[in-house]
Amino acid sequence: MQRIIIGAFLAMLCLPYSAQAFKLEGHLVQGGMAIGSVHPNATVYFQGKPVRVSPEGLFVIGFSRDAKAESVIELHQPSGTVEKHPVRIKKRSYKIQRIDGLPPRKVSPSAEDLERIRQDRALVKAARQTDDPRTDFTQAFIWPVIGRISGVYGSQRILNGKPKNPHSGVDIAVPTGTLVKAPADGVVSLAHNDMFYSGGTLIVDHGHGLSTVFMHLHKLLVEDGQRVKQGDVIAQVGATGRVTGPHLHWGMNWFDTRLDPSLLVPPMPTAQAAASAQ
Ligand SMILES: [Zn+2]
Repeated sequence: MQRIIIGAFLAMLCLPYSAQAFKLEGHLVQGGMAIGSVHPNATVYFQGKPVRVSPEGLFVIGFSRDAKAESVIELHQPSGTVEKHPVRIKKRSYKIQRIDGLPPRKVSPSAEDLERIRQDRALVKAARQTDDPRTDFTQAFIWPVIGRISGVYGSQRILNGKPKNPHSGVDIAVPTGTLVKAPADGVVSLAHNDMFYSGGTLIVDHGHGLSTVFMHLHKLLVEDGQRVKQGDVIAQVGATGRVTGPHLHWGMNWFDTRLDPSLLVPPMPTAQAAASAQ
């Protein structure tokens, strides 16, 4: 018996590197993002779809607001071996947020508005399908603006008394004109001055389907296709679209899956610390 165990142990040690390389680190929680590492020639499937693997063997996946407790990553090793790695995703509880005083038209849009909303959504969806080989998503993200958090990810929203979709990002209440910084390197994949709900809207693509979105902007300071570095000024905060006052809505997506960007940054510094840092 002992010999069999030792034999199995030796066999494991002798396996090619590829068979041992699977690693997954990050926020294994609803709204979270995780970065995996595998053999560069391995194929990774998550939720039945192949996921891009970088030449260094890196990949990224994200978990929706209501992701199931258990998911599986299927790994096809270059040797032909298929491995199934379970991913346990922690459940979160979400707040209910009531916002009153929104312009009625922004809560119950007209037929004409609905057509515009449809067009806006198609542009955003297309930008979010970008699957670029850059791996900017491996950077440590920074807050795009510093200020009071006035809305959090996942909240069930009741707008002017009507239940609506959950909140898909973080709101930071700062005055109009506050400069928005790129939270990580990336390429602008959408720059739109006036969307119905989100007003001035920017999407920055950080590679492998991971993107961040900035909404309600007063002014966009970058163009579609422009390369940005972490900390570059990309826009000014505003109060455009469906809002009651100036703030930045910061969202993050893995393709169509909405993630919580606040998981990737340090706790928001206090206003005092922010003032002395500027
Ligand atoms: Zn928001």
